[in-house]
Amino acid sequence: MTGASSFISRLIPSRLPRVCVPVTGSDATDLVDKAEALVRDNTFLEFRLDYLSHPAQALPKIKRFTEYHPQIVAIGTCRRIVSGGKFRGSLATQLEILSKAASAGCQLLDLELQSASKCKPGQLQRLRAKAALIISFHDFRATKNLERTLAKMAAFPADFYKIVGTATTLYDNVTMMKFLEKQSDRHSLIGLCMGEQGIISRVLGVRAGSVFTFGAISPDEKTAPGQVTAQDLRSTYRIEQVDAATRVYGVAGDPVSHSLSPVIMNAALRRENVNGVFLALHAKTLKDLLACVRDIPIHGLSITMPYKQAIVRFLDNTDSHTTKIGACNTVVRAQDGKLYGFNTDSAGVVRPLEQRITLDKSKILVLGAGGAARAAVYGLKERGAEVYILNRTAGPAQKLARSARARMVKRADLKKHTFDVIINATPVGMGNTRESPLHENEIQARYVFDMIYDPVETRLMKFAKARGAQVIPGIEMFVHQAARQFEIWTGKPAPWDDMLRVVTLALQERTARNAAKEQKKK
Ligand code: NAP
Repeated sequence: MTGASSFISRLIPSRLPRVCVPVTGSDATDLVDKAEALVRDNTFLEFRLDYLSHPAQALPKIKRFTEYHPQIVAIGTCRRIVSGGKFRGSLATQLEILSKAASAGCQLLDLELQSASKCKPGQLQRLRAKAALIISFHDFRATKNLERTLAKMAAFPADFYKIVGTATTLYDNVTMMKFLEKQSDRHSLIGLCMGEQGIISRVLGVRAGSVFTFGAISPDEKTAPGQVTAQDLRSTYRIEQVDAATRVYGVAGDPVSHSLSPVIMNAALRRENVNGVFLALHAKTLKDLLACVRDIPIHGLSITMPYKQAIVRFLDNTDSHTTKIGACNTVVRAQDGKLYGFNTDSAGVVRPLEQRITLDKSKILVLGAGGAARAAVYGLKERGAEVYILNRTAGPAQKLARSARARMVKRADLKKHTFDVIINATPVGMGNTRESPLHENEIQARYVFDMIYDPVETRLMKFAKARGAQVIPGIEMFVHQAARQFEIWTGKPAPWDDMLRVVTLALQERTARNAAKEQKKK
């Protein structure tokens, strides 16, 4: 029995880890140092030899590494430029490097379809005698012709076929997963979509039949567009546990990459032992999103800008808040495929206030008359509060005041009023600490509730503190509206404290990262 076939007979039945981490380096020492730093948490690595200017020089170091860490499974890859890699050498040199990578302990070798089709059969056989062979194909533009590409690849005997497309719609993920479901009985496949919209296939591809997937070392060291870090795949998305019963949830919007919903929701699902995964879905159209809801299927959606209003007409039924507000932020897909819409922004405003004051007969000022303000006004009126509205433009404020039976107030008259609570439902102060929707001397209130949660402390909150008011940060609204979503989707009480802790930490980390980036620019 050859080295490779004995390896495969041992490897396949015992199943490879689901996440392979590509390792790159500026030179051989850097490459192996990075691998050393990874071995504690990652037993499956891909050495991207093509990132090195002298790949062959790294092989003795890799050999020492694999001998010292016999538990590691390693792929040797030296992808040529024509196939999307960085290796500038000839095909003959590529094959020589891969062969030596096998001798250095790489049990799998990746060879692109473009290179394989130029090889003589004997060359491929010799490679395969040394290690398990992956024939790979990467499409950097689209996810299409998967069956045809596989048929071309299958002409070359190999142990795995890896097909990577690029998602330009969310539905491309469905195309990839349907292909994996159909073909993975016949071949050992690795399949996924690159790009920000490819997240669905990166997490769910393994349950559709992909033998494994790839996870980056860190957010700054991705070897493919849209790659998720290995740590996020394992701890946020719990990829090792994803199975046929795993329910899929997501936040859908355009853009959506900044959303903190995946962090908070995956933490809640994990904490409450719900077999579910929550993904950020960058939907460029509602049609694309709804097709995925039907075909994946997706059990619950958090809807964000710009679809909160537009989605309403696609829903089979909505709760009274959604109907009044005219906007939906939560969708549930029932067993029969029907879509039900809810608005949990009202709960996001009411719950933090109820933890502090009695709302009945309280006097509350809402700044703004957009979607979030409407959710606040209706929710507060329902609890018996006396609500005042102040908006930059009179028209929307008048309309809202009339339909919710609230009052209007002019900015010039603010000094005549003392409120129990002032709520900022405008974007003024978002992303900076310079702007505030009110001047300090306009604030006369026991509490000031700023819906904005980035920055953590807004200018309005600073003013409020200076005026002796207590502040309620926007993060509480975010957590409470998310908690209500969790309850609607799962029927379980939400782990509120945990959600607040996780999201506060994520915000602090984001602030620190942004500050470090700013510092670097200077
Ligand atoms: P929206 O529908 O676009 O409404 C924005 C409102 O703010 C409008 O009434 C608008 O007045 C007013 N406004 C906009 N720019 C202004 C400015 N420069 N000066 C004064 N008023 C201005 O937005 P939304 O969905 O209601 O969201 C409002 C804020 O709440 C956003 O900052 C959002 O991030 C935040 N929010 C937070 C949470 C949370 O979980 N913490 C949830 C939802 C929303 P006009 O009528 O004059 O245009």
